[in-house]
Amino acid sequence: MDRRHFFKTGGMALAGFGLAGCGPKKVIQTAPTRQAVPAFAPRPAIDLTPPRITWDRVIRTTIGLRPHRDSGFVLKGMKFDDKTVIHDYGFGGAGMSLAWGCGAMAADMALEQGDRRAAVLGCGSPGLTAARQLQRRGFAVTIYTLAVPPYTTSNMSSAGFTPTAGLVSAEQRTPAWDAQFRQAAEISYRQLQLLAGAPGYGVYWIDNYNATDDPTLPVGGGPDGDLVPEHLRTGRDREVLGPGEHPFPTKYAIRTQALAIEPSIYLDALVRDFLLFGGKIVIRKFDTPRDLMSLNEPVIINCTGLGSKTLFNDDELVPIRGQLTVCIPQPEVHYRASGRLLNSTINASINPRSDGLVIGNMQERGNWSLEPNEEVRQQNVSAAIAFFAAMRAPTGGVRLTRSAPVRATPSLESFYGEES
Ligand SMILES: Cc1cc2nc3c(=O)[nH]c(=O)nc-3n(C[C@H](O)[C@H](O)[C@H](O)COP(=O)(O)OP(=O)(O)OC[C@H]3O[C@@H](n4cnc5c(N)ncnc54)[C@H](O)[C@@H]3O)c2cc1C
Repeated sequence: MDRRHFFKTGGMALAGFGLAGCGPKKVIQTAPTRQAVPAFAPRPAIDLTPPRITWDRVIRTTIGLRPHRDSGFVLKGMKFDDKTVIHDYGFGGAGMSLAWGCGAMAADMALEQGDRRAAVLGCGSPGLTAARQLQRRGFAVTIYTLAVPPYTTSNMSSAGFTPTAGLVSAEQRTPAWDAQFRQAAEISYRQLQLLAGAPGYGVYWIDNYNATDDPTLPVGGGPDGDLVPEHLRTGRDREVLGPGEHPFPTKYAIRTQALAIEPSIYLDALVRDFLLFGGKIVIRKFDTPRDLMSLNEPVIINCTGLGSKTLFNDDELVPIRGQLTVCIPQPEVHYRASGRLLNSTINASINPRSDGLVIGNMQERGNWSLEPNEEVRQQNVSAAIAFFAAMRAPTGGVRLTRSAPVRATPSLESFYGEES
């Protein structure tokens, strides 16, 4: 059964709260904390190479289904006959961001078993990181999975460090879940920082520009389920570039640091590491928990994402559909940017990767289709063409050279509210 068929037969009734982020999107939504605008002294303008976005440079449009649960991810162990199953799934738009942490916590739960053989179900970001965390603790691990990279949802990700994106509803959280979230986010943030210093993982820091006419808007405007109280919020260090100081067709541009992951490089690197440490991958589909009884391993970590809806009857799981359109890569564009022209209702965005210049996004709840939405594709590409064509051309080929001194280390909370 192919992946598309698998998800279509998942028995999901369409949840009717619609196209939350589909189509027109604001650059920045709710404002958790407004920040003071610094006084502007005249500074030399920043030069950035504008992205070349045209329809004939579009090479693909991808769809991915974020595995969302209103009450957040599931991280807990339970018994099925003589097997211990540890659930580790349901990460919404944060599965690239939180996986190392939840994987570590799942592996610690597995340590409570005497046996050091473990099975992992699923080979996306949660499955691979859980498998690596088990190996680091001395387990012999086999991954059993229907699909491997590049055919997982994780491969369809944007994928930035967005630990709260599409993750949880504020009303459904519990103190116990909050504590798990916090621990997972801290472990993951540290692990991704370390991978950003290692070659070959496709993890790196990159400048991010929010082009806007309102320089007081905070970084990260999406819903974060109020995961940190207002008084504990620390803003990520933002540099507000004033009129004339940046090349975007808006009054201001807010520059921050983003932590980025290239899914195809990253997931392949995780597969390579897993195999190097003696792991095995078996292609296999599981239909009911009874199928798990045939495995030799006494402990099983379930990282099947949306697959848990049918496999473990988790009715709370719902897809939040995302769509990315990709242009031919342009290596000289090494910054992320988003913004909107005055007369436009559509946000334009670029996310440069070595496998292409990624444009736009979408969050559509309850839709299981893996067919691209042509209307959204047209809107996103047209908005990007118009916005980035209006960027000021670089003068004399000068590249970005100026960076103000860092005022504050980017705290974990400063990434809350980032959309994915
Ligand atoms: C457009 C888009 C943008 C995103 N941007 C970000 C971002 O910026 N930052 C971020 O952190 N996250 C982002 N995400 C979310 C992230 O991609 C997901 O949270 C993550 O990939 C979920 O992984 P998963 O393990 O649930 O799914 P998958 O990666 O698909 O892994 C599930 C695995 O389980 C296997 N499986 C399922 N059912 C069965 C079964 N019955 N038997 C055997 N195997 C099974 C599958 O074959 C697969 O290998 C984005 C997602 C999308 C779609």
